Amino acid sequence: MVPNPIRAGLLRLRRWHEVVPLPSEIVIEPTTRCDLECPTCLHRALPSARKGRAMSFDDFKRILEGIPTLEQVVMSGLGEPLQNREVHRMCTEAHLRGLRTKLVTNGMKVSEENAYDILFSFDFIEISFNAATIPAIDILLAEQPSLGTEGRLTVSVLGTPENLRVFPAIQSTLARKGIRCRITPLENWWSEGDPSYQQVREMMLQIGQGSVKKRFGGCRWPFTSAFISCDGEVTPCTSRMDPRRITFGNALETPFWAIWDSEPYRSFRRDHLRGICNRICQGCPLE
Ligand code: SF4
Ligand code: SF4
Repeated sequence: MVPNPIRAGLLRLRRWHEVVPLPSEIVIEPTTRCDLECPTCLHRALPSARKGRAMSFDDFKRILEGIPTLEQVVMSGLGEPLQNREVHRMCTEAHLRGLRTKLVTNGMKVSEENAYDILFSFDFIEISFNAATIPAIDILLAEQPSLGTEGRLTVSVLGTPENLRVFPAIQSTLARKGIRCRITPLENWWSEGDPSYQQVREMMLQIGQGSVKKRFGGCRWPFTSAFISCDGEVTPCTSRMDPRRITFGNALETPFWAIWDSEPYRSFRRDHLRGICNRICQGCPLE
């Protein structure tokens, strides 16, 4: 067996559209536990076998060991990362390996008691906007006022028919705190053929949000990053985090390089390079 660091080097020498270097960033799902039940989230539709799962510290470490090219690890998924008690230990492990860490959180678990630990563990924080977001932002800013201007703290808003009209107000409230805010239209989280697609599409058209944005290749994700669920399933991105929709293999059962180098992953990349829009990429909201 060729050791991973040597293999990573060999991969860099090959033609990039057939096999690309192992990723510099990975998104890991620490848990599928969540303290919210957002009506727009696939978390509600998780099969019972995947609900309440959490990645162990040892599995997290194995994944990092299997991807020697990593520079950044992002904690995000179909659950709230701070619900995994090992998350700070995982960040320490990542920092010891020289990696940057990023948290995507709903902010519900941010408190004056843990603000310092969160800022110590995570180099970057993105808060998904909900009712708890403003208090969570204020707590973090009280601990470190320059978070927004340094670009360490951002906010994302899922645009729904209910909140799109108030988005400018949300944006200006956050701008006064020095926080950048971005919106992702709800419609784009569905693909044509999914059960709720037509209903959501009609809602967005009613409020003048135009039609679904189709992707015809050119996406960076299959070439530079990947999503790994708390039970090890590798999917191409955070737009498609449910392994029932797509998985290239399990990183806790198969070496990551073998999954990254597999024919299904190569074929997926070839489609992107040729401008062929596969079904799971239709309507994708990510850049
Ligand atoms: S907080 Fe995030 S993971 Fe939890 S239900 Fe809402 S969108 Fe899903
Ligand atoms: S679903 Fe979107 S982010 Fe994911 S690989 Fe396809 S185009 Fe890229």
